Amino acid sequence: MSESAELAQIREAVRALCADFPGEYWRALDRERAYPEQFVAALTKAGFLAALIPEQYGGSGLTMSAAVAIMEEIQASGCNGAAGHAQMYTMGTLLRHGSAEQKARYLPDIARGKLRLQAFGVTEPTSGTDTLALRTNAVRDGDYYVVNGQKIWTSRAEHSDLMLLLARTTPRPPPDPPSPAGEGRVGASRTAGLSVFIVDMREAKGHGLTIRPIRTMMNHATTEVFFENMRVPAANMIGNEGEGFRYILSGMNAERILIAAECIGDAKWFIAKAASYAGERVVFGRPIGQNQGVQFPIARCYIAMRAAELMVREAAALYEAGQECGAEANMAKHLAAEASWAAADMCVQTHGGFGFAEEFDIERKFRETRLYTVAPISTNLVLSYIAEHVLGLPRSY
Ligand SMILES: Cc1cc2nc3c(=O)[nH]c(=O)nc-3n(C[C@H](O)[C@H](O)[C@H](O)COP(=O)(O)OP(=O)(O)OC[C@H]3O[C@@H](n4cnc5c(N)ncnc54)[C@H](O)[C@@H]3O)c2cc1C
Repeated sequence: MSESAELAQIREAVRALCADFPGEYWRALDRERAYPEQFVAALTKAGFLAALIPEQYGGSGLTMSAAVAIMEEIQASGCNGAAGHAQMYTMGTLLRHGSAEQKARYLPDIARGKLRLQAFGVTEPTSGTDTLALRTNAVRDGDYYVVNGQKIWTSRAEHSDLMLLLARTTPRPPPDPPSPAGEGRVGASRTAGLSVFIVDMREAKGHGLTIRPIRTMMNHATTEVFFENMRVPAANMIGNEGEGFRYILSGMNAERILIAAECIGDAKWFIAKAASYAGERVVFGRPIGQNQGVQFPIARCYIAMRAAELMVREAAALYEAGQECGAEANMAKHLAAEASWAAADMCVQTHGGFGFAEEFDIERKFRETRLYTVAPISTNLVLSYIAEHVLGLPRSY
């Protein structure tokens, strides 16, 4: 499938920007677990992180397919888009469900780079994947909500001005009795009672908001966040009280498509690196890539990456046409995350010992891409989604 000239130009521009951020830049940050400030600033200045913000608010007004091209090229260039990707995927919730006043208040400053919307507070230590079991609560008090609770894995919270927060505004209803089909907890009440807020962390830090970094196997700037009587203006609630889960879900489809695009970029990087090395490295008097035992794994990874890429493009096309894309977004994320992880493993194997050397960047990218079969949604949960929602099998949890 060939892409439009516009997307080709976007890819070219992203590659040109990424050329200023070579392996040495990322390695130095990785050692310190430091945030890539300069890289994110360059992406913001070039307007890439405002790709999905409509032109009327100062953004580039591009499509999801363009956003996909941007994230994919960042990864394919050896950089790490995780430092800035949330600004793109949180947009889905704000754009589709935010009020005109909220959009006018935040979007122009986000587009201009004056405000960063990089934090997305959903996961909690006790709820895990079971988002509906989250406990962080927001209780109305006049013109404010008072928030108490805790989030975990809130990435980039230290490098963001705003956080999109999912909290409970009415207590969790008791589970419905199991249906005859064994579907367990069913019905609209299951998803009710959660609301989404835009939290201005500049005001909240030290006034009920505490952020603690979590050191991980890769450089990801993730944190745990504590709320103790944190006051959020009621005007910062997105949409209607109690309907937040639905708003977050539409953002989650965008997140899955964009992360899938990042995985495609990673897979392309690993495959190019492996093919190049296999062509050059001579052992037993011939390039290692002349052996089918070395070339076939590379070819397999290429095939898997191309198949996943098609699903990413289909999901993006559905998303931008405003059509239901839950299944495609999940399948794209699943296929792409598996393809990037397989390519990472293959790349290490192709490089032999050098795959482990820092200066080749493979071990760094290997650690970075490992995340995506777990987050933002783990493989098992994607499979459950397809089993239940596409194949009509009984709900398993
Ligand atoms: C580096 C990093 C960054 C992240 N950034 C963010 C962020 O910015 N914002 C945010 O909100 N979250 C973030 N997350 C959280 C991420 O989305 C979750 O880690 C992920 O969804 C998995 O949830 P969990 O860790 O609680 O795993 P759990 O829910 O505890 O699951 C553990 C394992 O059990 C499996 N499992 C659980 N239930 C079932 C079942 N019913 N059937 C089959 N298998 C099951 C899962 O598939 C998984 O493999 C991040 C996580 C990491 C590691």
